[in-house]
Amino acid sequence: MDRKEFADRLLDTKYDYEYYENLYPERKLDDKAMVTRYAPSPTGFVHLGALYAAFIAMKMANQSNGVFFLRIEDTDQKRSIENGVSKIITDLANFDITFDEGVSLDGEKGNYGPYIQSEREDIYKAFAKKLIMEDKAYPCFCSEESLKEDRERQEKHKERIGYYGYYARCRNLSMEEAIQKIENGEKYIIRLKSKGDFNHRFKFKDEIKGKMELPENDQDIVIIKSDGLPTYHFAHAVDDHLMKTTHVIRGDEWLSSVPVHVQLFEYLGFKLPKYAHISPITIEDNGTKRKLSKRKDPEAAISYYHEKGIPNKAVMLYLETVANSNFEMWMSQNKDKDVKEFVLDFKKMPVGGSLFDYDKLMNISKNYISTLKALEVYDMTLKWARQYDNDFALLLEKYKDYSTYIFNIEREQKKPRKDIGYFGDVKNQIWYMYDELFKPQEYEFQKITDKKEIKNILDTYLSIYSAGDDKDTWFNKMKECASKLGYAGEMREYKENPDKYKGSIADFSTVVRVSLTSKANTPDLFEIMRLLGIDRMKERIKMVL
Ligand code: GLU
Repeated sequence: MDRKEFADRLLDTKYDYEYYENLYPERKLDDKAMVTRYAPSPTGFVHLGALYAAFIAMKMANQSNGVFFLRIEDTDQKRSIENGVSKIITDLANFDITFDEGVSLDGEKGNYGPYIQSEREDIYKAFAKKLIMEDKAYPCFCSEESLKEDRERQEKHKERIGYYGYYARCRNLSMEEAIQKIENGEKYIIRLKSKGDFNHRFKFKDEIKGKMELPENDQDIVIIKSDGLPTYHFAHAVDDHLMKTTHVIRGDEWLSSVPVHVQLFEYLGFKLPKYAHISPITIEDNGTKRKLSKRKDPEAAISYYHEKGIPNKAVMLYLETVANSNFEMWMSQNKDKDVKEFVLDFKKMPVGGSLFDYDKLMNISKNYISTLKALEVYDMTLKWARQYDNDFALLLEKYKDYSTYIFNIEREQKKPRKDIGYFGDVKNQIWYMYDELFKPQEYEFQKITDKKEIKNILDTYLSIYSAGDDKDTWFNKMKECASKLGYAGEMREYKENPDKYKGSIADFSTVVRVSLTSKANTPDLFEIMRLLGIDRMKERIKMVL
């Protein structure tokens, strides 16, 4: 029996590997163009770290006029959920992560498909057969039990765990012995026949981590599983070769698999792509740094940002700062440029983990929201509210112009107010502007709490307030009125002679502010009053009294 016949007996395929090699042409791209991919399992869950990796892969492709594609890695069928793929695509699209090629909501785009691994079974098998023919792979009949026994023995003797050397029990079976076992009905998987030496190290250059030395792989890893599907390692090599990926950009949990991957590319006769292993986003937990965890940290899920109403743009700006710390400086120096013009550089990416910094994210978000027009803030808040706070959405819809005016207070000016960090916090900041919501639990009166004095101030204030006054006139009138009641009209006067006055203009206006809004801190009072109008002001003052 020759090895080709042997391979045919082991794996049944429609086509051979040469057919597939010829099926996918070289891409016609510039030398520097990067072909990158995002390759999730269809779990429906997008981790912040995955969004970060996808963003880097997309940006690298875009800025080099390359191609960014989506491949679905569903060879571990246990991890798939229904609609997992469309959920991932929609979630990413919300963050402006879009693909040039691959799986999409309406079928597949591109000439290198199928882009769903479970639909590529024949392809993997064809390449596994190539390895079998070249005596670089073989069938393994070891049962679960015998593998378990070996593992226990390795643990007991403090040996490396795995299927290698003496423990690679099926690697020396002859073709005839293997065929005999198959005829006896024994089940098998396909393993790589590794010639690597674990004591031998090889040099490798990662685009982000730089030069490193790793031990060769000596494990006869599984390449085709008992369900006929490939393992991650084998699928990675076959797919990234056929799809002409130039840069494999992925989380650094895969770094330890590089020896296996380098070996697979070599055995398969493929050109090795470049690797860029991204350091994780971490969190401090009891004094130790660890990766953001899907189970423990709500902020690991990108849905968290959506639910809170942190604008996707802000999240992306934050992630870009994590990716290249010089991005922030660039942004402040290039305010009128599109952030797409910033060139991301592997060499500037962090080599170790980056601590997740919520305060920084909030700062970026506040800055970003402060640059938006009032109507944009209105639209975004409404969009958020429609999904997460329907009552508030109804109010916003009912009072569209009024709400937009509220958002316009201290906005669209040179130094805009930076108070909104996320849309989920908007109601909390402006509720008092809506009569429907204005049911204060408490009034944050500060220095002046005497009821008679409060009444006195408010009565006097109402008597001088005229809706037609401009801001200066209004303020002068208020100062006059404060003086009349024994408050210093100027802060300076009060500071020089505190005993001479009941208090200052600030104390006086706080009474007005708190009476109208219940809050001691609000945006510009003059604007608030203009929006409330005299009737509602009177009503609110009556409420206090
Ligand atoms: N499917 C792998 C994962 O979920 C992809 C890793 C890669 O990008 O190669 O992590």
